[in-house]
Amino acid sequence: MTRRMPELSILRQTWSPYSDPRSTHTVQVGKVRVGGARPIVIAGPCAVESLDQTLEIAHAIKRAGADLLRGGAFKPITSPHSFQGLGIKGLEILSEVRRITGLGIVTEVMDPRLVSEVAEVADILQIGSRSMQNFPLLTEVGRAGRPVLLKRAWSATLEEWLCAAEYIAVQGNRNIILCERGIRTSCHWEYSRNILDLNVIKPLRQATPLPVIVDPSHATGQAHLVPVMSQAALAAGAQGLLIEVIAKEASRVQARCDGEQGIFPEELEQIVALTHQGAPAASFNSAASLVGGLAK
Ligand code: PEP
Ligand code: MN
Repeated sequence: MTRRMPELSILRQTWSPYSDPRSTHTVQVGKVRVGGARPIVIAGPCAVESLDQTLEIAHAIKRAGADLLRGGAFKPITSPHSFQGLGIKGLEILSEVRRITGLGIVTEVMDPRLVSEVAEVADILQIGSRSMQNFPLLTEVGRAGRPVLLKRAWSATLEEWLCAAEYIAVQGNRNIILCERGIRTSCHWEYSRNILDLNVIKPLRQATPLPVIVDPSHATGQAHLVPVMSQAALAAGAQGLLIEVIAKEASRVQARCDGEQGIFPEELEQIVALTHQGAPAASFNSAASLVGGLAK
């Protein structure tokens, strides 16, 4: 990996003070510290569908102890005939839900022309897997003055992913959170929507002090796999989780997208409890020489 590491001069300026690979460049979002001692939990619906639906889930995830609310107003959807999100109306709903609950908002931006509008509502701008190499979009979010949650393209190598982060950093924004969300392999959809690449967490945390979180919802596509893969992600050193939640059984089929992978608030509560159990088991002690190599 060291041999093929690309040009990351700007990011490297960010991480040069972090000679200890266990330390992280923390990203502060209101009172929430991403990359701090406790892994954070971002939870919410796949898509914002209505004020009632979003508010119900927001109250539930807050009671469960989640730190931030997620929900897509603009959805990157494979078929042009499927629900694309409520767009601007969805942003208005998110803004109202934040006002009522006090939860910080994580929401996706897909279009470089809409970055400033989305940034008015988002506490963290999400770049989805399909947009990871949309370079004009990365440049715009780099200028937006908001932390960025950069999801890994399902085809991306570690190097390509970090180069995407560098596009954001070049614009002066170092508040980047990396999110592993599953990659495609020949096993695609045999038993899981994607394959959760937990192998990548340790090398990433050795290569950069940017916080690394995991999305077990899109990685598996199945609600029953989300709790166990959340646990596995924390054990592997994830500094947070991004999880889709549904409020009731009926949403499993009625949700306009990804109902089958949403977990219930009671399950979320159990996952949040895991984040309070102290340092993850993963050891990063052997990383110093690798970081030294990459930092040159
Ligand atoms: C999402 O988190 O809403 C999403 C669409 O995920 P991904 O970009 O990882 O597919
Ligand atoms: Mn989804």
